[in-house]
Amino acid sequence: MDKVVGILGGGQLGRMLAAAAALLNIDVVILDVGAHGPAKQVVAPREPRLAHIDGSFTDPAKIRELAERVDVLTVEIEHVDAAVLDEVQHKLPLGVHPSPATIRIVQDKFAQKQHLAAHGCALGEFMAVDATPESIRAAADKLGLPLMLKSRTLAYDGRGNFVVRDLSQLDAALAALAGRPLYAEKWVPFVKEIAVMVVRSAAGDVVSYPVVETVHKDNICHLVFAPLRSRDPSIPARAQHVAEAAVQTLHGAGVFGVEMFLLEDGSVYLNEIAPRPHNSGHYTIEACETSQYENHLRAILSLPLGSTALKVPSAAMLNLIGASDAMSDITAVAHTALAVPGASVHLYGKAACRAGRKMGHITLVAPSDAALRARLRPLLEALPRAAP
Ligand code: ATP
Ligand code: MG
Ligand code: MG
Repeated sequence: MDKVVGILGGGQLGRMLAAAAALLNIDVVILDVGAHGPAKQVVAPREPRLAHIDGSFTDPAKIRELAERVDVLTVEIEHVDAAVLDEVQHKLPLGVHPSPATIRIVQDKFAQKQHLAAHGCALGEFMAVDATPESIRAAADKLGLPLMLKSRTLAYDGRGNFVVRDLSQLDAALAALAGRPLYAEKWVPFVKEIAVMVVRSAAGDVVSYPVVETVHKDNICHLVFAPLRSRDPSIPARAQHVAEAAVQTLHGAGVFGVEMFLLEDGSVYLNEIAPRPHNSGHYTIEACETSQYENHLRAILSLPLGSTALKVPSAAMLNLIGASDAMSDITAVAHTALAVPGASVHLYGKAACRAGRKMGHITLVAPSDAALRARLRPLLEALPRAAP
Protein backbone atom coordinates (compact mmCIF):
# COMPACT_ATOMS: atom_id res chain seq x y z
CA MET A 1 0.00 0.00 0.00
CA ASP A 2 1.50 3.34 -0.95
CA LYS A 3 -0.88 5.68 0.87
CA VAL A 4 -0.10 7.34 4.19
CA VAL A 5 -2.78 7.75 6.85
CA GLY A 6 -2.63 10.56 9.43
CA ILE A 7 -4.43 9.97 12.73
CA LEU A 8 -5.51 12.76 15.07
CA GLY A 9 -5.13 11.22 18.51
CA GLY A 10 -2.76 8.54 19.73
CA GLY A 11 -4.67 6.69 22.47
CA GLN A 12 -5.95 3.11 22.46
CA LEU A 13 -8.15 3.51 19.38
CA GLY A 14 -5.20 4.95 17.45
CA ARG A 15 -3.06 2.10 18.76
CA MET A 16 -5.41 -0.58 17.44
CA LEU A 17 -5.85 1.32 14.15
CA ALA A 18 -2.07 1.57 13.77
CA ALA A 19 -1.65 -2.14 14.52
CA ALA A 20 -4.21 -3.01 11.81
CA ALA A 21 -2.43 -0.67 9.37
CA ALA A 22 0.94 -2.34 10.02
CA LEU A 23 -0.44 -5.69 8.82
CA LEU A 24 -1.32 -4.11 5.47
CA ASN A 25 1.96 -2.15 5.09
CA ILE A 26 -0.03 1.04 5.46
CA ASP A 27 2.10 3.84 6.91
CA VAL A 28 0.51 5.92 9.66
CA VAL A 29 1.60 9.23 11.16
CA ILE A 30 0.17 10.03 14.57
CA LEU A 31 -0.46 13.46 16.07
CA ASP A 32 -0.69 13.55 19.85
CA VAL A 33 1.16 15.02 22.81
CA GLY A 34 4.36 13.19 23.77
CA ALA A 35 6.62 10.77 21.93
CA HIS A 36 5.55 7.47 23.49
CA GLY A 37 1.77 7.35 23.81
CA PRO A 38 -0.25 4.15 23.26
CA ALA A 39 -0.44 4.48 19.43
CA LYS A 40 3.11 5.77 18.81
CA GLN A 41 4.51 2.79 20.75
CA VAL A 42 3.27 0.29 18.19
CA VAL A 43 4.46 1.87 14.92
CA ALA A 44 7.92 3.19 14.29
CA PRO A 45 8.12 5.40 11.17
CA ARG A 46 9.61 3.65 8.14
CA GLU A 47 11.23 6.87 6.90
CA PRO A 48 12.07 10.24 8.54
CA ARG A 49 9.34 12.02 6.51
CA LEU A 50 6.79 9.75 8.23
CA ALA A 51 7.82 10.74 11.78
CA HIS A 52 5.01 11.07 14.31
CA ILE A 53 4.16 14.57 15.51
CA ASP A 54 4.36 15.74 19.12
CA GLY A 55 1.48 18.14 19.70
CA SER A 56 -2.18 18.53 20.44
CA PHE A 57 -4.79 17.19 18.01
CA THR A 58 -6.63 20.49 18.63
CA ASP A 59 -3.65 22.66 17.56
CA PRO A 60 -4.26 24.10 14.04
CA ALA A 61 -0.51 24.40 13.25
CA LYS A 62 0.12 20.76 14.21
CA ILE A 63 -2.88 19.55 12.19
CA ARG A 64 -1.52 21.46 9.14
CA GLU A 65 1.92 19.89 9.72
CA LEU A 66 0.32 16.41 9.84
CA ALA A 67 -1.65 17.11 6.64
CA GLU A 68 1.64 17.86 4.83
CA ARG A 69 2.87 14.31 5.48
CA VAL A 70 -0.15 12.18 4.58
CA ASP A 71 -2.68 11.29 1.87
CA VAL A 72 -5.72 11.04 4.13
CA LEU A 73 -6.58 12.22 7.62
CA THR A 74 -8.75 10.40 10.13
CA VAL A 75 -9.49 10.71 13.84
CA GLU A 76 -9.64 8.51 16.90
CA ILE A 77 -11.54 11.21 18.77
CA GLU A 78 -14.14 13.75 17.61
CA HIS A 79 -13.01 16.57 19.91
CA VAL A 80 -10.68 18.04 17.26
CA ASP A 81 -10.55 21.35 15.35
CA ALA A 82 -13.11 20.93 12.56
CA ALA A 83 -12.33 24.33 10.98
CA VAL A 84 -8.70 23.36 10.23
CA LEU A 85 -9.85 20.02 8.87
CA ASP A 86 -12.19 21.94 6.52
CA GLU A 87 -9.21 23.98 5.35
CA VAL A 88 -6.85 21.03 4.71
CA GLN A 89 -9.30 18.49 3.29
CA HIS A 90 -9.06 19.81 -0.27
CA LYS A 91 -5.27 19.62 -0.25
CA LEU A 92 -5.27 15.92 0.65
CA PRO A 93 -5.51 13.36 -2.19
CA LEU A 94 -8.04 11.25 -0.24
CA GLY A 95 -9.47 14.00 1.99
CA VAL A 96 -10.55 13.83 5.63
CA HIS A 97 -12.71 11.00 6.95
CA PRO A 98 -15.12 11.34 8.64
CA SER A 99 -15.83 14.64 6.88
CA PRO A 100 -15.23 17.82 8.90
CA ALA A 101 -18.96 18.58 8.57
CA THR A 102 -19.74 15.26 10.28
CA ILE A 103 -17.21 15.93 13.04
CA ARG A 104 -18.71 19.38 13.63
CA ILE A 105 -22.22 17.93 14.04
CA VAL A 106 -21.19 15.00 16.21
CA GLN A 107 -18.88 16.89 18.58
CA ASP A 108 -21.80 19.02 19.81
CA LYS A 109 -24.21 16.44 21.24
CA PHE A 110 -27.15 18.87 21.09
CA ALA A 111 -26.43 19.70 17.43
CA GLN A 112 -26.13 15.95 16.78
CA LYS A 113 -29.56 15.31 18.32
CA GLN A 114 -31.09 18.20 16.32
CA HIS A 115 -29.54 16.84 13.12
CA LEU A 116 -30.80 13.30 13.75
CA ALA A 117 -34.29 14.56 14.71
CA ALA A 118 -34.45 16.69 11.54
CA HIS A 119 -33.73 13.52 9.52
CA GLY A 120 -36.55 11.59 11.18
CA CYS A 121 -34.33 9.27 13.28
CA ALA A 122 -35.92 7.66 16.37
CA LEU A 123 -34.81 9.60 19.47
CA GLY A 124 -35.95 10.35 22.98
CA GLU A 125 -37.11 13.91 23.70
CA PHE A 126 -34.46 16.56 24.37
CA MET A 127 -34.28 20.33 24.69
CA ALA A 128 -31.86 23.21 25.07
CA VAL A 129 -31.26 24.53 28.59
CA ASP A 130 -29.29 27.43 30.01
CA ALA A 131 -26.96 26.92 32.94
CA THR A 132 -29.46 28.34 35.44
CA PRO A 133 -31.66 26.62 38.05
CA GLU A 134 -34.79 28.17 36.45
CA SER A 135 -33.98 26.78 33.02
CA ILE A 136 -33.28 23.27 34.34
CA ARG A 137 -36.45 23.38 36.46
CA ALA A 138 -38.43 24.29 33.32
CA ALA A 139 -36.83 21.34 31.47
CA ALA A 140 -37.76 19.01 34.36
CA ASP A 141 -41.35 20.33 34.25
CA LYS A 142 -41.51 19.50 30.56
CA LEU A 143 -39.49 16.24 30.38
CA GLY A 144 -40.04 14.88 33.91
CA LEU A 145 -37.66 13.37 36.47
CA PRO A 146 -35.15 11.86 36.47
CA LEU A 147 -33.77 14.32 33.93
CA MET A 148 -30.51 13.60 32.08
CA LEU A 149 -28.51 16.82 31.95
CA LYS A 150 -25.61 16.69 29.47
CA SER A 151 -22.70 18.84 28.42
CA ARG A 152 -23.04 19.60 24.70
CA THR A 153 -19.28 19.35 24.14
CA LEU A 154 -16.14 17.44 25.20
CA ALA A 155 -18.11 14.57 26.74
CA TYR A 156 -16.83 11.01 27.05
CA ASP A 157 -17.26 8.08 29.44
CA GLY A 158 -20.20 9.89 31.02
CA ARG A 159 -17.97 12.82 32.07
CA GLY A 160 -20.38 15.57 31.14
CA ASN A 161 -23.59 13.85 32.29
CA PHE A 162 -25.57 14.55 35.47
CA VAL A 163 -28.74 12.73 36.42
CA VAL A 164 -31.13 15.14 38.17
CA ARG A 165 -33.31 12.88 40.32
CA ASP A 166 -35.07 15.62 42.26
CA LEU A 167 -35.18 19.39 42.15
CA SER A 168 -33.02 19.78 45.27
CA GLN A 169 -30.05 18.75 43.08
CA LEU A 170 -30.10 21.75 40.72
CA ASP A 171 -27.20 23.56 42.37
CA ALA A 172 -25.16 20.35 42.56
CA ALA A 173 -25.82 19.70 38.85
CA LEU A 174 -24.74 23.23 37.90
CA ALA A 175 -21.62 22.93 40.03
CA ALA A 176 -20.70 19.54 38.51
CA LEU A 177 -21.14 20.87 34.95
CA ALA A 178 -19.86 24.40 35.63
CA GLY A 179 -18.70 26.31 32.57
CA ARG A 180 -20.05 23.80 30.08
CA PRO A 181 -22.77 24.43 27.50
CA LEU A 182 -25.74 22.22 28.45
CA TYR A 183 -28.86 20.52 27.12
CA ALA A 184 -31.35 18.12 28.67
CA GLU A 185 -32.67 14.71 27.64
CA LYS A 186 -35.80 12.96 28.82
CA TRP A 187 -34.89 9.84 30.80
CA VAL A 188 -35.05 6.76 28.53
CA PRO A 189 -36.26 3.71 30.51
CA PHE A 190 -34.27 1.26 28.40
CA VAL A 191 -34.17 -2.50 29.05
CA LYS A 192 -30.83 -2.86 27.29
CA GLU A 193 -28.20 -0.69 25.67
CA ILE A 194 -27.15 -1.93 22.26
CA ALA A 195 -24.67 -0.82 19.61
CA VAL A 196 -23.87 -1.40 15.97
CA MET A 197 -20.67 -0.56 14.15
CA VAL A 198 -21.54 0.70 10.66
CA VAL A 199 -18.94 1.02 7.88
CA ARG A 200 -19.36 3.32 4.92
CA SER A 201 -17.11 2.82 1.90
CA ALA A 202 -15.67 5.73 -0.07
CA ALA A 203 -18.31 4.96 -2.72
CA GLY A 204 -21.09 5.36 -0.13
CA ASP A 205 -22.04 1.70 0.40
CA VAL A 206 -22.97 0.87 3.97
CA VAL A 207 -22.49 -2.42 5.84
CA SER A 208 -23.09 -3.26 9.50
CA TYR A 209 -21.49 -5.44 12.11
CA PRO A 210 -23.72 -7.60 14.31
CA VAL A 211 -25.82 -5.90 17.00
CA VAL A 212 -24.15 -6.13 20.41
CA GLU A 213 -25.35 -5.57 23.95
CA THR A 214 -23.34 -3.00 25.89
CA VAL A 215 -23.39 -2.94 29.69
CA HIS A 216 -22.40 0.31 31.35
CA LYS A 217 -21.26 0.80 34.93
CA ASP A 218 -21.03 4.36 36.31
CA ASN A 219 -21.65 5.67 32.76
CA ILE A 220 -18.59 3.81 31.37
CA CYS A 221 -18.81 0.85 29.02
CA HIS A 222 -18.02 -2.21 31.16
CA LEU A 223 -18.94 -5.23 29.04
CA VAL A 224 -20.00 -5.97 25.46
CA PHE A 225 -21.75 -9.19 24.40
CA ALA A 226 -21.88 -10.27 20.75
CA PRO A 227 -24.25 -11.06 19.24
CA LEU A 228 -27.27 -9.51 21.00
CA ARG A 229 -29.62 -12.19 22.36
CA SER A 230 -33.25 -11.15 22.26
CA ARG A 231 -36.57 -12.94 22.50
CA ASP A 232 -37.94 -10.89 19.62
CA PRO A 233 -36.04 -12.08 16.51
CA SER A 234 -36.85 -8.87 14.60
CA ILE A 235 -34.79 -6.65 16.91
CA PRO A 236 -31.29 -7.11 15.40
CA ALA A 237 -32.39 -6.27 11.85
CA ARG A 238 -34.38 -3.28 13.08
CA ALA A 239 -31.46 -1.99 15.15
CA GLN A 240 -29.12 -2.34 12.18
CA HIS A 241 -31.62 -0.44 10.06
CA VAL A 242 -31.86 2.40 12.63
CA ALA A 243 -28.05 2.59 12.84
CA GLU A 244 -27.53 2.53 9.06
CA ALA A 245 -30.23 5.15 8.45
CA ALA A 246 -28.57 7.43 11.03
CA VAL A 247 -25.13 7.01 9.44
CA GLN A 248 -26.64 7.76 6.01
CA THR A 249 -27.48 11.28 7.26
CA LEU A 250 -23.76 11.96 7.82
CA HIS A 251 -20.91 12.31 5.36
CA GLY A 252 -17.54 10.67 4.98
CA ALA A 253 -16.11 7.17 4.76
CA GLY A 254 -15.10 4.90 7.62
CA VAL A 255 -16.53 3.27 10.68
CA PHE A 256 -19.26 4.81 12.85
CA GLY A 257 -20.13 3.50 16.32
CA VAL A 258 -23.87 3.84 16.86
CA GLU A 259 -25.10 3.62 20.48
CA MET A 260 -28.79 2.85 20.96
CA PHE A 261 -31.40 2.11 23.63
CA LEU A 262 -33.72 -0.90 23.42
CA LEU A 263 -37.09 -0.28 25.10
CA GLU A 264 -39.50 -2.74 26.72
CA ASP A 265 -41.89 -2.62 23.73
CA GLY A 266 -39.04 -3.50 21.33
CA SER A 267 -38.56 -0.01 19.95
CA VAL A 268 -35.03 1.26 19.35
CA TYR A 269 -33.88 4.85 20.04
CA LEU A 270 -30.54 6.35 19.09
CA ASN A 271 -28.32 7.53 21.93
CA GLU A 272 -25.30 8.91 20.09
CA ILE A 273 -22.95 8.32 17.16
CA ALA A 274 -19.16 8.24 17.25
CA PRO A 275 -17.69 8.88 13.75
CA ARG A 276 -14.80 6.44 14.26
CA PRO A 277 -13.92 3.00 15.62
CA HIS A 278 -15.58 2.54 18.99
CA ASN A 279 -15.17 0.70 22.30
CA SER A 280 -18.22 -1.45 21.53
CA GLY A 281 -16.40 -2.70 18.40
CA HIS A 282 -13.15 -3.88 20.04
CA TYR A 283 -14.55 -7.43 19.99
CA THR A 284 -14.39 -7.45 16.17
CA ILE A 285 -10.59 -7.94 16.27
CA GLU A 286 -10.93 -11.54 17.42
CA ALA A 287 -14.61 -12.30 16.75
CA CYS A 288 -15.29 -11.02 13.22
CA GLU A 289 -13.88 -11.80 9.79
CA THR A 290 -12.54 -8.25 9.46
CA SER A 291 -11.94 -5.97 12.46
CA GLN A 292 -13.52 -2.52 12.73
CA TYR A 293 -10.00 -1.07 12.55
CA GLU A 294 -9.08 -2.80 9.30
CA ASN A 295 -12.44 -1.92 7.76
CA HIS A 296 -12.00 1.72 8.79
CA LEU A 297 -8.68 1.79 6.93
CA ARG A 298 -10.11 -0.01 3.91
CA ALA A 299 -13.01 2.47 3.78
CA ILE A 300 -10.92 5.65 3.98
CA LEU A 301 -8.37 4.30 1.44
CA SER A 302 -11.04 3.26 -1.10
CA LEU A 303 -10.12 -0.42 -0.73
CA PRO A 304 -12.79 -3.15 -0.85
CA LEU A 305 -14.53 -3.60 2.52
CA GLY A 306 -14.09 -6.90 4.35
CA SER A 307 -16.82 -9.17 5.71
CA THR A 308 -18.36 -8.01 8.97
CA ALA A 309 -19.65 -11.48 9.89
CA LEU A 310 -19.03 -13.05 13.29
CA LYS A 311 -16.72 -16.04 13.01
CA VAL A 312 -17.44 -17.44 16.49
CA PRO A 313 -20.75 -18.42 18.12
CA SER A 314 -20.36 -16.14 21.11
CA ALA A 315 -18.02 -13.30 22.15
CA ALA A 316 -17.59 -10.74 24.91
CA MET A 317 -15.34 -7.78 25.63
CA LEU A 318 -14.44 -6.74 29.17
CA ASN A 319 -12.97 -3.26 29.69
CA LEU A 320 -10.09 -3.04 32.16
CA ILE A 321 -10.81 0.23 33.94
CA GLY A 322 -8.52 1.59 36.64
CA ALA A 323 -9.95 1.44 40.16
CA SER A 324 -7.09 3.52 41.60
CA ASP A 325 -3.57 4.43 40.52
CA ALA A 326 -2.46 0.80 41.00
CA MET A 327 -1.39 -0.59 37.61
CA SER A 328 -0.76 -3.94 39.34
CA ASP A 329 -4.55 -4.44 39.71
CA ILE A 330 -4.89 -4.30 35.93
CA THR A 331 -1.95 -6.61 35.25
CA ALA A 332 -3.43 -9.09 37.73
CA VAL A 333 -6.62 -9.41 35.65
CA ALA A 334 -4.52 -9.77 32.51
CA HIS A 335 -2.60 -12.61 34.20
CA THR A 336 -5.85 -14.35 35.11
CA ALA A 337 -6.94 -14.08 31.47
CA LEU A 338 -3.79 -15.83 30.26
CA ALA A 339 -5.18 -19.04 31.80
CA VAL A 340 -8.65 -18.65 30.24
CA PRO A 341 -9.28 -20.36 26.89
CA GLY A 342 -10.50 -17.99 24.18
CA ALA A 343 -9.25 -14.89 26.01
CA SER A 344 -7.15 -12.25 24.24
CA VAL A 345 -5.49 -9.57 26.35
CA HIS A 346 -5.10 -6.02 25.08
CA LEU A 347 -3.19 -3.64 27.33
CA TYR A 348 -2.90 -0.09 26.08
CA GLY A 349 0.58 0.92 27.25
CA LYS A 350 -0.65 3.97 29.16
CA ALA A 351 2.01 5.58 31.33
CA ALA A 352 -0.11 5.71 34.48
CA CYS A 353 -3.20 4.07 35.90
CA ARG A 354 -6.00 6.23 37.31
CA ALA A 355 -9.47 5.57 38.69
CA GLY A 356 -11.97 5.51 35.80
CA ARG A 357 -9.29 5.32 33.09
CA LYS A 358 -9.52 2.68 30.35
CA MET A 359 -6.25 0.73 30.70
CA GLY A 360 -6.98 -2.24 28.45
CA HIS A 361 -9.60 -4.83 27.56
CA ILE A 362 -10.00 -8.58 27.24
CA THR A 363 -11.87 -10.20 24.40
CA LEU A 364 -13.39 -13.63 24.99
CA VAL A 365 -14.62 -15.99 22.31
CA ALA A 366 -16.42 -19.27 22.98
CA PRO A 367 -18.32 -22.09 21.28
CA SER A 368 -21.57 -21.23 23.16
CA ASP A 369 -23.07 -18.58 25.43
CA ALA A 370 -22.80 -20.98 28.38
CA ALA A 371 -19.08 -21.51 27.74
CA LEU A 372 -18.63 -17.76 27.38
CA ARG A 373 -20.25 -17.08 30.78
CA ALA A 374 -18.04 -19.74 32.39
CA ARG A 375 -14.91 -18.17 30.86
CA LEU A 376 -16.00 -14.68 31.92
CA ARG A 377 -16.58 -15.57 35.58
CA PRO A 378 -12.94 -15.75 36.75
CA LEU A 379 -12.20 -12.47 34.96
CA LEU A 380 -15.06 -10.65 36.68
CA GLU A 381 -13.90 -12.06 40.01
CA ALA A 382 -10.36 -10.79 39.37
CA LEU A 383 -11.44 -7.21 38.60
CA PRO A 384 -10.12 -4.54 40.97
CA ARG A 385 -12.73 -3.00 43.25
CA ALA A 386 -12.89 0.76 43.63
CA ALA A 387 -12.02 2.02 47.11
CA PRO A 388 -15.25 2.47 49.12
P1 ATP B 1 -19.28 7.83 25.53
O1 ATP B 1 -18.06 7.43 26.31
O2 ATP B 1 -20.09 6.67 25.04
O3 ATP B 1 -19.02 8.86 24.47
P2 ATP B 1 -20.79 9.95 26.79
O4 ATP B 1 -20.01 10.64 27.85
O5 ATP B 1 -20.93 10.63 25.48
O6 ATP B 1 -20.26 8.47 26.63
P3 ATP B 1 -23.61 9.18 26.83
O7 ATP B 1 -23.44 8.09 25.86
O8 ATP B 1 -24.43 10.36 26.45
O9 ATP B 1 -22.22 9.70 27.44
O10 ATP B 1 -24.23 8.61 28.19
C1 ATP B 1 -23.53 7.64 28.96
C2 ATP B 1 -24.51 6.62 29.49
O11 ATP B 1 -25.52 7.27 30.27
C3 ATP B 1 -25.29 5.89 28.41
O12 ATP B 1 -24.53 4.82 27.88
C4 ATP B 1 -26.48 5.42 29.22
O13 ATP B 1 -26.15 4.34 30.08
C5 ATP B 1 -26.78 6.63 30.08
N1 ATP B 1 -27.73 7.56 29.42
C6 ATP B 1 -27.40 8.51 28.52
N2 ATP B 1 -28.49 9.21 28.11
C7 ATP B 1 -29.54 8.69 28.79
C8 ATP B 1 -30.94 8.97 28.81
N3 ATP B 1 -31.48 9.97 28.09
N4 ATP B 1 -31.72 8.21 29.62
C9 ATP B 1 -31.19 7.21 30.38
N5 ATP B 1 -29.89 6.91 30.40
C10 ATP B 1 -29.06 7.62 29.62
MG1 MG C 1 -20.16 10.17 23.68
MG1 MG D 1 -22.05 7.14 24.84
